[in-house]
Amino acid sequence: MNTTQHTTQNTALSGKLSFITENILSVQSKIQAACQRSSRSAKTITLLAVSKTKPNEMILAAQSAGLTVFGENYVQELCEKIETLPSDITWHMIGHLQRNKVKYIIGKTALIHSVDSFRLAEQIEKEAAKAGVVQDILLEINVAQEESKWGFTLEDALDAVKQVSQLSHIRVKGLMTSAPYTENPEENRLYFRALRSCFDSIREMALPNVSMEVLSMGMTGDYEVAIEEGSTLVRVGTGIFGERNYH
Ligand SMILES: *Cc1c(COP(=O)(O)O)cnc(C)c1O
Repeated sequence: MNTTQHTTQNTALSGKLSFITENILSVQSKIQAACQRSSRSAKTITLLAVSKTKPNEMILAAQSAGLTVFGENYVQELCEKIETLPSDITWHMIGHLQRNKVKYIIGKTALIHSVDSFRLAEQIEKEAAKAGVVQDILLEINVAQEESKWGFTLEDALDAVKQVSQLSHIRVKGLMTSAPYTENPEENRLYFRALRSCFDSIREMALPNVSMEVLSMGMTGDYEVAIEEGSTLVRVGTGIFGERNYH
């Protein structure tokens, strides 16, 4: 770690970015409580900070508060942040990925959550082979079958996993979903429960090249319910960094 970074972090901790540390503590205690309600250990949950649209200094503040895994939605923004932020940050791609952009993130992204078609998986296979790496991925499932969202249907999930498991430069690590936006997170419980059940049945099949370890579900509005239903990774943006401004 260089000196500039220490300065940024110390300023962030005591100064105008201290709300980030407070937010993280609050999210962590809610994760803890949801784990207690469902007799789980909080150690089994990864808190991924969704940093899209947020500046580097905020990411450094979250890192100095103890977070290590960050998620981005847009390839260009992800690449810029990877280049300019400390190398001990673990980056995940969580947004819809176009096939022509795959080449920019292979080898730099620990986990791609948003594999939503076999053609995208084939492109990842091709670029990973070229780079000589094996890329960890999740398959995105559109559990609620929303028109506006990407992903395989629940019905197609098993076939998709089987098909993708044939690709030797990809490891399927689990499943991801984004539940509908709602004021009442209880409304999403059935979607989380359905994905968990799918996740368990795929895991029981013990397919080669497939390890169902990561169940990525739950965002700011619904991560507590998602944890109660078996999530192992929650993706929290607003709850850590505040509202996003896209302008
Ligand atoms: C933006 C985003 C999030 C974070 O949403 P918040 O409601 O701000 O927590 C999580 N997952 C995906 C896929 C996203 O695009």
